[in-house]
Amino acid sequence: MVGGGIAGAATAYRLAQAGVETVLLERFDLGTQASGANAGSMHGQIQFTPFRDFGWEWARRWAPTLRLLEASVEIWKGLDRELGVDVELRLGGGLLVASDERQLRLIERKVALENEHGVASQLLDRAALRAVAPYVADEMVGGELCPIEGKANPLLATPAFAAAAERAGARIVRNAEVTAIERTRDGFELTTTRGRFRSPKLVLCAGAATAPLARMLGIELPIEGHPMQVNVTEAVAPLVPHLVYFAGDRLTLKQARIGSLLIGGGWPATVHPGTGRLTVDLHGVRRNLAVARRVVPAVGAARLLRTWVGVNNGVPDETPIVAALDEVAPGLVVGTFPYLGFSAGPIMGELLADLARGREPRFDLSPYHPSRF
Ligand SMILES: Cc1cc2nc3c(=O)[nH]c(=O)nc-3n(C[C@H](O)[C@H](O)[C@H](O)COP(=O)(O)OP(=O)(O)OC[C@H]3O[C@@H](n4cnc5c(N)ncnc54)[C@H](O)[C@@H]3O)c2cc1C
Repeated sequence: MVGGGIAGAATAYRLAQAGVETVLLERFDLGTQASGANAGSMHGQIQFTPFRDFGWEWARRWAPTLRLLEASVEIWKGLDRELGVDVELRLGGGLLVASDERQLRLIERKVALENEHGVASQLLDRAALRAVAPYVADEMVGGELCPIEGKANPLLATPAFAAAAERAGARIVRNAEVTAIERTRDGFELTTTRGRFRSPKLVLCAGAATAPLARMLGIELPIEGHPMQVNVTEAVAPLVPHLVYFAGDRLTLKQARIGSLLIGGGWPATVHPGTGRLTVDLHGVRRNLAVARRVVPAVGAARLLRTWVGVNNGVPDETPIVAALDEVAPGLVVGTFPYLGFSAGPIMGELLADLARGREPRFDLSPYHPSRF
């Protein structure tokens, strides 16, 4: 297996638990990339931006993916017990807030589609929004409440999966960058900065870096990296019990257990054109904070502590790629869950392990085959 983010650590755990001899190769340390740099939102609804921008047909095609997120949240609920680590999961509900009637009408259609797919989200009019979230600005006209959403702590989850995988017998090799992959008569040979590894099966779940790895086998996957940034404030008194989104601009806002507010929503970071280094986009920080203040005015009293950057894994249709590619490389499994991959980590672990073991997964994965491109 290649990739020690949440998808890889969860897959290694499921494989080792099933008694499969498992080696996980990670170029740095575990959970140091997107899985450690994300904002910790637990998503279970159709995201408003692609719903608005890609249109109804996209939403209908994407909607069955809600089942995957719901199943993932169900696994999250038991992780404290299963992994023996409190991952700070709190499902206080997700609140998508609208500032005008046009947004609210779109949200109404989105809620209906989510309900069709088993998510008990509700449309809120102005009065219902006030009752649920008195902290939201007066100008907001309504919204959506999605009960299965919330947050968890990214710094705890991936290491917890990895430790459980090691306890179950998986071998995790850190600082092992895969630099070449070749097919052998009975599987694969991987060249890494820490030696060569052979295996009859190979799972590539390296987040935004999955495409260059697949290319080593002559396979093109449309997986992209999107540099993004997240802001964190000093700890403040309990203020926001929900995961708050805004239909009028990019925003996710939630409060960590220790009291810090995490403010993001997919604001791009800057890539230095010469060195390729990621840097914080200060203009984006100001705009992101202004959006947060507009939706929840009390946020303005909290002081910003830090902004950090990470590379998110994207796919053009924002739909997962989860597939066994036996037809092009027998024994190869690939997996990436774009943009919402922290929430989806636990279900990715189950699905990728099933595919690697040749077991029938409990969901129809045909919509997630890369042949759709
Ligand atoms: C700023 C930001 C905020 C986000 N917020 C949220 C959120 O609130 N909620 C949510 O659900 N999702 C969020 N996401 C998305 C989520 O973090 C990712 O979708 C998820 O972490 C992907 O997990 P992964 O295991 O697939 O990939 P990663 O975490 O990227 O892990 C892949 C691993 O593969 C390793 N690797 C790559 N190439 C090689 C190689 N050649 N050899 C060996 N190892 C290699 C990398 O070092 C890395 O550790 C956010 C992402 C970012 C960047």
